[in-house]
Amino acid sequence: MCGDVERVFKRRETHQVRCGNVVIGGDSPVSVQTMTKTDTRDVGSTLAQVNECAAAGADIVRVAVPDMEAAEALRKIKAGAMCPIVADIHFDHNLAIAAILAGADKIRVNPGNIGGPQKLLAVAERARERGTAIRIGINGGSVERDILEKHGGPVPEALVESAERALGYLEDSGTGNLVISLKSSGVRATVKAYTLMAEKTRWPFHIGITEAGPGVRGVVKSAVGISSLLTLGLGDTLRVSLTGSPLDEVKAGRDILQAAEVAFFGPEIISCPTCGRTQVNLIPVAEGVAARLRDIRAPLKVAIMGCPVNGPGEAKEADVGVACGRDGGILFMRGKVLGRVPEEEMIDALVRLAHEAAK
Ligand code: SF4
Repeated sequence: MCGDVERVFKRRETHQVRCGNVVIGGDSPVSVQTMTKTDTRDVGSTLAQVNECAAAGADIVRVAVPDMEAAEALRKIKAGAMCPIVADIHFDHNLAIAAILAGADKIRVNPGNIGGPQKLLAVAERARERGTAIRIGINGGSVERDILEKHGGPVPEALVESAERALGYLEDSGTGNLVISLKSSGVRATVKAYTLMAEKTRWPFHIGITEAGPGVRGVVKSAVGISSLLTLGLGDTLRVSLTGSPLDEVKAGRDILQAAEVAFFGPEIISCPTCGRTQVNLIPVAEGVAARLRDIRAPLKVAIMGCPVNGPGEAKEADVGVACGRDGGILFMRGKVLGRVPEEEMIDALVRLAHEAAK
């Protein structure tokens, strides 16, 4: 059984691809990406959003390049960006070439809409000269017509054939530094597509569920899709696509990686859901503690429990914890009871303890 579980989680072996100072694939950590939602031609706003995302934990940020002005703006964005920049290109291969010349660390092209193999190869030539990585970004909505006709629609097999065709052109021309994505808005189709593709190539995968939607719904759909792939050992860089802020995308991406036990970004907060037995106002305590422990990088479990029923047991299991009662909480550290604190001092006391335990 144990062997089966390990096999399931074993990460697929891939080549390594360099995107600025981030390595994608091999045994490098699964990187978190997002995409700016500003007009790329507005350098000030775009750069501010790029750096806000990088400060929030994005490893790589993608920007849309819909015209030459946006491609030119990349030069300034690159100069001030705190993380590698990917240029997102559709329809016009000249934009891809301009983005490469402007210093993009990676370009995302969609072979189904870039204008045919010759144009794709012209882009690849420039990318090779500059050491720019290329993501072959296949989308269900833009698979080549003959492939769609053969498969009867944008089914996973069609996405894979489209990627294989582009890969064939690029590899034959000696282009390396490739990343592949096969995005469909359905979880099952996406998982099937990546699983099929994994048998055909060693290039790393960019994973995500495209157009996942807004709010909780989008996060849940992305988490189900991304974690299914991670469980199969597939995925070297990811983006959670939300109809919302890129900062939420970054946070969700990191939370998915941590929940899937693929990466660690900070202490694990184990807080009870609260119920009719809760004896203190637990929600602000849990939120307050979580917000103040973001600087901790040690693998720490912090328990915040709402009543004396399960509280002491759970709190004892964690590195530090508090089990709340009617008049405050009992603090624990690595199984030992440290004493009682009044409710208004609980956050400070637990934060202090967590920092001590993290040393
Ligand atoms: S720990 Fe107590 S308050 Fe929290 S959910 Fe369980 S029973 Fe309810």
